Amino acid sequence: MSKSKVAIFWYRRDLRLDDNVGLYHALESNYPVIPLFIFDEAILDSLPKDDARVSFIHESSAQINAELNTIGSSLLVKKGETQFVWQNLLEEYDIQEVFYNKDYEPYAIKRDESIANLLHENKVPSHGFKDQVIFEELEITKADGLPYTIYTPYKNKWLEKYKALGGFHKYSSSEQYYNFYKAIFNFPTLQEIGFEQSAIKVKPHNLNQIATYHETRDFPALNTTSYLSPHLRFGTVSIRKLVVWAAKTNAVFLSELIWREFFMQILFSFPKVMTNNFKSAYDGIQWRNNEDDFKRWCTGTTGYPMVDAGMRELNATGYMHNRVRMVVASFLCKHLLINWQWGEAYFAEKLLDYDLSANVGNWQWAAGTGCDAAPYFRVFNPEIQLKKFDEKGIYIRKWIPEFDLSYGNPMVNHAFARDRAIATYKAGILK
Ligand code: FAD
Repeated sequence: MSKSKVAIFWYRRDLRLDDNVGLYHALESNYPVIPLFIFDEAILDSLPKDDARVSFIHESSAQINAELNTIGSSLLVKKGETQFVWQNLLEEYDIQEVFYNKDYEPYAIKRDESIANLLHENKVPSHGFKDQVIFEELEITKADGLPYTIYTPYKNKWLEKYKALGGFHKYSSSEQYYNFYKAIFNFPTLQEIGFEQSAIKVKPHNLNQIATYHETRDFPALNTTSYLSPHLRFGTVSIRKLVVWAAKTNAVFLSELIWREFFMQILFSFPKVMTNNFKSAYDGIQWRNNEDDFKRWCTGTTGYPMVDAGMRELNATGYMHNRVRMVVASFLCKHLLINWQWGEAYFAEKLLDYDLSANVGNWQWAAGTGCDAAPYFRVFNPEIQLKKFDEKGIYIRKWIPEFDLSYGNPMVNHAFARDRAIATYKAGILK
């Protein structure tokens, strides 16, 4: 039997049909397009069976599949080691071309190179597109061509280039959908993939209050931020559509989207930040790394209400408000003198929006070891943060039901911890 001549669009962190650059180009090719998603064992094997991110990916791909079913097409879902899955696909189909959107994390770059090599050996051209960012890789650089390591000049250049773009091409049209391959593949259940439904759900994003974002974003009890982060992580929204809207709606909100790209380009240009201090002069800090202290931080039992509420919110929902993330991260690194990598790993395990570049970038910002980071002598006072940003205690009462004015017995005195942190950093910073 002759094999079908097809093009394949490989979904990864771009789980939508609408305004998807790689998918658009695949559908413009001369072959019926099979949309593919691979549950990659190299990533899945280390996750708990009820991982909420896997549930969300399954749910989002099921939505794509349901939409495709209405036109007699479907999403091809595979589980396995990617190289092995692609070898099988090459045997099963006469693949003419492969399309995908680029992913800039070190693991993904390596994986994509090895698949591109395999395809090349089989004489199949593959095409990667920019989709998850407005500006990628080295598109925003200083005049000397080197990457920016300070946010504000990066942002200014970003805005300048964005204005010069004058808009984006529309990467979708329902007429194109006739070019999908006509077949209904079996769509596996979560159990068939080896997972269970998580009790934790990704919230829908909410842009209703973004016009006043600059006034309300720091107050965790108000719930006025966008909740976009998991959607941007998995690509269930288009960054181009969002940026066009943000540019008209709120400049501070737009600048947060630019922070996201700033950290992505830092990781791309300096992949060592994944595991090492961006500023190597900070490599000599003598962290205390006390395991019992770490446990109290993880379980939200430090005695500091803002820290405890944040950690309990994270443990219960997979989310934590940005202001509170800053407070808990500073507390771990400065008050407890625990290496930022421990906190980064804990967030990576729990956050629905876990994104390597943003997580590492923000953790190193809090620890003072990163680019454009908070200075090492800036030690957030968790009590003052609470007074400023949750004065009526609405947020902390939500997450600490037993809270009253006598709550807690702070595990470490703030003034003592502050002095200890500054002295330890001072002694550890290599001249
Ligand atoms: P909004 O305030 O509505 O912001 C809109 C979008 O802008 C966010 O969805 C996000 O994509 C982007 N954004 C906002 N702030 C930042 C920032 N500081 N850095 C990078 N992008 C930003 N964000 C992640 O997406 N993944 C992470 O793993 C992550 N880890 C973090 C760890 C620490 C220690 C800290 C302090 C922050 C971290 N952040 C991370 C950034 C930020 O806290 C979240 O993006 C934000 O809280 C998500 O909520 P939101 O979508 O309602 O944000």
